Amino acid sequence: METAKIIVVGAGPAGIATAVEAREAGIGPVIVLEKQAHLCDTVVSLYHQGKRVDPVYRKVKVEPTGKLSFDTETREDFLRRMAIVAEDHRLDIRFGREVQKIISQDGLFHVYTGKGEEFRAPVAVIAIGIFGKPIKPSYPIPAEVKDKVHFSLPREAPEGKKVLVVGGGDAAAEAACFLANKNEVALSYRRSEFFRINELNYCNLNDCACLGKINLMMATDIKELTPHGERVMVRFAHGEEIPFDFLFYNLGGMTPAAFLESIGVEMTDKKPRTDIHGETDVERLFLAGDLVVEKGTIMAAFNSGKAVIDRIASRYGSMAGAEAAMAGKESS
Ligand SMILES: Cc1cc2nc3c(=O)[nH]c(=O)nc-3n(C[C@H](O)[C@H](O)[C@H](O)COP(=O)(O)OP(=O)(O)OC[C@H]3O[C@@H](n4cnc5c(N)ncnc54)[C@H](O)[C@@H]3O)c2cc1C
Repeated sequence: METAKIIVVGAGPAGIATAVEAREAGIGPVIVLEKQAHLCDTVVSLYHQGKRVDPVYRKVKVEPTGKLSFDTETREDFLRRMAIVAEDHRLDIRFGREVQKIISQDGLFHVYTGKGEEFRAPVAVIAIGIFGKPIKPSYPIPAEVKDKVHFSLPREAPEGKKVLVVGGGDAAAEAACFLANKNEVALSYRRSEFFRINELNYCNLNDCACLGKINLMMATDIKELTPHGERVMVRFAHGEEIPFDFLFYNLGGMTPAAFLESIGVEMTDKKPRTDIHGETDVERLFLAGDLVVEKGTIMAAFNSGKAVIDRIASRYGSMAGAEAAMAGKESS
């Protein structure tokens, strides 16, 4: 069992920013628990190779309020820079630690990992994002075609295949353009126009469509998937049936409500309830990044780490770790 002042769960942009801001504010020790063997798993696992990482994403421009910021760069440069940020700030990140349970007891959060370890701290910040739970379609995916239906791009991207990308956000647009380099691609979007993608992605998509590299299937809804030899037959609501080798759904992620509720976080309209600093109704339990911001972007995740630490510094900064939490409880 180890004790810290703050336990941060998740080493994505929000978790890293929280730990950096804490270091800059002189608040510690901070232990960051990350389930994967690397930083920023959403960037590692869901961004395609060479992807442009834009600070203006989903049409949202967010000015930096804290120490971390970035300009447009590739996925690989972004990941390299985040590793340097973690090293320069001597962040204590424990990899391969999936947090499975958090209990609030005696003024401390008891944080349990899948490895059977326990960490304790008076303050906990949950920054696990929403992409651990991708949104799935409402119709069933038959077992026979599951290996052809993807919610993240496999390490080996397909080549020479007939691919259907489903979704209409920036991530879907970028994936479709990326896949169109080496595949025959169609993109199915239920609206008749793109309305939430940035201008560059809009232009790239239209360029690909004009060059015949992407078939834009606007205002289409999928009704059913069925096995079709080595392919998946996609039946659209307008009656058309098209077989594909590979389907890639990019519909966004879901708040891990059950996990948050198990710690006592209240939900309103399926969103966790917090104040503007990310503090939940459970005192000293904070949420950061995609879990709390209106539209998830990296800059918003960075800024939410700053907001969390500002509140911890002003409200709980004088507490010298676990003993202070205990003392606070005894005197109340
Ligand atoms: C395909 C795609 C492209 C995108 N492109 C851009 C872009 O160009 N620009 C932009 O600003 N935004 C982009 N975004 C959005 C951006 O990635 C998110 O807003 C951002 O990553 C949110 O950061 P976060 O730290 O809140 O969560 P995440 O980045 O999701 O990080 C969460 C971390 O927590 C870890 N974790 C999860 N569960 C546990 C657990 N139980 N215990 C321990 N660790 C755990 C995960 O492994 C992960 O490392 C994109 C998103 C996608 C899906």
